[in-house]
Amino acid sequence: MCLGTNQVLAGKSSDALESSGSRCVALRQGYLCTTRRDYPAKCRGANEGESVKSGDGGKISLLAGKDFWETVPVPSKGVPAIKTSDGPNGARGEVFNGGTRAACFPAAVCSASTWNPSLSRRIGNALAEETLTKGARVLLGPTMCNHRHPLGGRNFESFSEDPLLTGKLAAQVVTGLQEKGVGATIKHFAANEQETERLSVNEIISERALREIYLKPFEIAIKEANPWAVMTSYNKINGTHADSHPFLLQQILRGEWGWKGLVMSDWGGTNSTTDSLNAGLDLEMPGPTRHRTEKAVVEALRKGLVSEETINDRARNVLELIQKVAGFETPVIPPERSVDDPKHRQLIREVGGQGLVLLKNENGILPLRKEEVKGKKIALIGLAREALIHGGGSASLHSHYRISPWEGLHNTLGDDVEFEFAKGAHTYRLLPSLDKHCTGLDGKPGWTLELFNSNKKDMPVKTVNGHKEAAFNPLGHDEAKWKYVELSATFTPSETGSHYLSCAGIGPTSVSINDEIVYAQNHNSADAMAFLFGGNPEKQFTYPFQKGESYKILIQSSPPTTDPNKDASILAGLPGFRLGFMKQAEHDEDLVSTAKDVARSCDIAIVFTGHSPVWETEGQDQVSFNLPREGSQDALVEAVASANPKTIVVNSTGVAIAMPWLSKVSAVLQAWFPGQEAGNSIADVLSGAVNPSGKLPISWPKKIEDAPAYGNFPGVKKDGQLTVAYEEGVFVGYRHYDRIARDKLQFPFGFGLSYTSFDFRDARVSPSSPGVFDTSVTVSNTGQEAGATVVQLYLGYSEKRAQQQHHPIKTLAAFQKVFLEAGEEAVVQLKVEAKDFAWFDEELGAWRVDKGKYAFSFAQSSRDVDNIVMKMTGVRTLIVPQAECW
Ligand code: BGC
Repeated sequence: MCLGTNQVLAGKSSDALESSGSRCVALRQGYLCTTRRDYPAKCRGANEGESVKSGDGGKISLLAGKDFWETVPVPSKGVPAIKTSDGPNGARGEVFNGGTRAACFPAAVCSASTWNPSLSRRIGNALAEETLTKGARVLLGPTMCNHRHPLGGRNFESFSEDPLLTGKLAAQVVTGLQEKGVGATIKHFAANEQETERLSVNEIISERALREIYLKPFEIAIKEANPWAVMTSYNKINGTHADSHPFLLQQILRGEWGWKGLVMSDWGGTNSTTDSLNAGLDLEMPGPTRHRTEKAVVEALRKGLVSEETINDRARNVLELIQKVAGFETPVIPPERSVDDPKHRQLIREVGGQGLVLLKNENGILPLRKEEVKGKKIALIGLAREALIHGGGSASLHSHYRISPWEGLHNTLGDDVEFEFAKGAHTYRLLPSLDKHCTGLDGKPGWTLELFNSNKKDMPVKTVNGHKEAAFNPLGHDEAKWKYVELSATFTPSETGSHYLSCAGIGPTSVSINDEIVYAQNHNSADAMAFLFGGNPEKQFTYPFQKGESYKILIQSSPPTTDPNKDASILAGLPGFRLGFMKQAEHDEDLVSTAKDVARSCDIAIVFTGHSPVWETEGQDQVSFNLPREGSQDALVEAVASANPKTIVVNSTGVAIAMPWLSKVSAVLQAWFPGQEAGNSIADVLSGAVNPSGKLPISWPKKIEDAPAYGNFPGVKKDGQLTVAYEEGVFVGYRHYDRIARDKLQFPFGFGLSYTSFDFRDARVSPSSPGVFDTSVTVSNTGQEAGATVVQLYLGYSEKRAQQQHHPIKTLAAFQKVFLEAGEEAVVQLKVEAKDFAWFDEELGAWRVDKGKYAFSFAQSSRDVDNIVMKMTGVRTLIVPQAECW
């Protein structure tokens, strides 16, 4: 095959490409071409010496991106570029902050709480439509790593602690995307469970845990939905970076699982030239390449470190992806558009409604039905006016709109209820950057930004007036690489006070006010990546300002000196900084006392707590199990609960958090990050318009010390290398909590309340063929209104026996959500196969199911097991063939 020709690819399936013609490989003067007997004229030309090298569009150029989002086109061969877009809960398009507006869908942890695969499919369909509006054909999602530890910065983007639940739901998102012609990129392969030193952390994981817990969701998605792309993770697994990992990429992904698709690196996560090519990494992202220059690849070929066949395989996968997403048919990348589709609005609200989890409801305080709260006063406290719709990092986007709880509750109950508001607590991570009352060197509002080639006062190479804030984010500003940045403005404060300032830079940075240095940082930031995600620690200080006076502020920042810390990678040479500001009166205000007074004056108080994107984000793990900042939200809930006995908490985090106040409040609703309709979904559940049916996709410990990975997260640093041992093995989530006292758990996996009640009876299990069981259970809605529950079927050894030291007590083997009217009942049937509860025997190198007695538990949570019906003998020790494992 001659790689890079439209004619060759057009109209032929990849199988046809694979099988047709013999391949001969030529390496001539650095020009590469493979040939086959029936290659068309254009390709023949290439083989006869037509230039196909990287510089003018040869196949080596296909092995890395062109820029941040697109692949490299080879116009002479009819190969178009295709565009990718983040990400898991919306198609953001190419601009990180404030770009083309897009629909914001619920974070995966919220959609996982629905336990409803059909919603995941519809989300996939809608995401595909959104992706196309951004001119992209490949979406960088879903994210499907495990919620190993509650402090995992990116847990919210991922579905669950359980591999089956994650795999089944992610597979539906993939199917939903690809049936609309958009390629899914399941990520991050593999074991991206922490953000601390994510580019270099070395994870020590047993093969059994890897296969049963961390690879299993990928395996399910691969085998059920055949995603067209996989993104490798940044981290190392057992000493080898994921992008260069032959065991993961060759042996498992393409070998055992037989998957044929494109493997791309995470952004800046290609760590080598030859190792990554040989291991199976097709595409280095983003571009332009750092490791796959024509020179480097040709050199590797010349030295025999990589074969031309390997190059062809890698390039072929790129071409086949372009073909799968119809790039050859419609080669032009259209401009980005913003389409606010009412169907998407409705879907987002529906997923939010089904994904919110009611954790506590004492004396039936909820729902706040319209007729019952008419004429009452309700205090909305805390983050009520913030719409916490997504987490931080690549999951964030410029959504079409964002409904806050304040708006949602006004939409639903506003005509009947009087609402009061109190902020109650400071929750900022960094002071907001100084943007008001500033005048640039041109005399107009804003700051003047200048880029210099050196820190000597030469002519600026670029000057921009009207820069909006006292911050410089290097993303998307490649022209700033290795440049010195200055921001200047005259600041005229509107109030007198010893106001608060804070600053930090990626590289050495200083701030002067009226020519006096007030901040000097001589070193690089310890965590340059954190800078991008709003979590770089800043030094806070005060400065005495007089109302109406002018203060000349100059911020000077250099690119990171010498070889920056390893985290820099794609940030190498890029300067960045911010200057935060808060008025003294605002900073020192007693917000809690005011909130307490407001709560006391109302009939009901609802406190909105949670993590804004800077507190829960890619690039950093959470600072604490307690809500930020520094206990302010916990203190607020305590204070409000002491002032109003009818206190309800609505919490928006992607993870479990400490709830030291739980016994003092009447109700708790876990709202996650439910997307742009957040406030409406919350109001739907609070008002009873929607009967909650969300079930936790994670276990919720009372104390972080009881979490399975406690003590092994985020690892231990020695000689500059962070290493984390996954010592808990397969005992992740409920597989761990099942083995410790029940009271260590605040809420179990699978738990969630409803405004109605459900009963299970007549559970049955019968073997239908070797290793296959048909099961059924009758579910009745025993309450007064329509609602839904989830039948969760767990399997485990039926007796406490030796194996339980080595195996989880039970494992989720199947589930189904069931919707019933009041008084209605239904028989739910679930099929279980050996692969659903097989374990991986490292000695045997295979999956197996042991002979013995098994308990089939039908449950409404992992700790609310209604029926243990099956003590089954005669299940043979069985080697489950790899091909049958999904
Ligand atoms: C993230 C990926 C994301 C990529 C592009 C990386 O930092 O880990 O998930 O797709 O950036 O934004």
